[in-house]
Amino acid sequence: MVSSTDVTGDVARQEVKPEDIFRFECSSKCMGKCCRLITILLDPWDVEVMARHIRLSGADFLQIFCNYDFGTSSHWPFVWLNHAERGNCAFLLEDGRCSIYEARPRNCRTYPIGRAVRIEDPGETPQIQERLFMVERMEFCLGHEGNRTWTVKEWLKESGACKYYELSDLYLSLVQYATETLNCRAWLSPNTARMLMPLLFMPDLLRKKLAIGEEGMDHETFYRRRLKAVRAVLTEMAATFGCGPLAGTTPGNTEVPLTDRIRQVILEG
Ligand code: SF4
Ligand code: SF4
Repeated sequence: MVSSTDVTGDVARQEVKPEDIFRFECSSKCMGKCCRLITILLDPWDVEVMARHIRLSGADFLQIFCNYDFGTSSHWPFVWLNHAERGNCAFLLEDGRCSIYEARPRNCRTYPIGRAVRIEDPGETPQIQERLFMVERMEFCLGHEGNRTWTVKEWLKESGACKYYELSDLYLSLVQYATETLNCRAWLSPNTARMLMPLLFMPDLLRKKLAIGEEGMDHETFYRRRLKAVRAVLTEMAATFGCGPLAGTTPGNTEVPLTDRIRQVILEG
């Protein structure tokens, strides 16, 4: 089982390249020690995959397993695993294994490799600079004493991290677009940010509302398109506050109900 400390921001970072070799193998002697008293931030794809895996709605998953808050200046919502922060992760089994291993979140997949990204252009196809690093060893973690060796590239492939990185980058790009391009600090109120929660973290609810079933659109496409819809809605909102690329214009379709506009963006792709 793996977990990650790269979300805490207080760890030393030794940069690594995809072909670098390191030794790591989880040990039964410390199994699961990494899954307690740790902040695991979740992005919308993490929440969606975990909730689906245990057959819960996004709303129920958030309520039972997560805490969320809104950035003090950006007001943008952020979500993290509730129980892991205060003690044992809710998904930690008695023998130290993870009960949702196949659906574990991005930050649990990649330890001891961490990744920092810089988004150079927060467009719909974001331009990303990435830096991979070895997270500082936790003193109880015996993984580095194991016998197995990996290249960084092999580790990330084995952990299934690449798809998570790709989808997380889309989300990070949206957040950067909202905070920097649209300057949402100036106009996004906590109440409006609350209205974003179903769009970001409750895809099942959104599907119902928009009458877009799973048979009509697969989960990944729905994820990509709903981020695009959030981008479009926020761009229109920002314009009414004189911010963003549409500032000074009157967006053309504001007389169409918001739900219909979101549905249109998602169906058109
Ligand atoms: S989700 Fe699984 S791997 Fe991640 S902290 Fe919880 S028990 Fe550990
Ligand atoms: S070796 Fe490290 S990452 Fe693996 S289970 Fe033990 S503490 Fe967790």
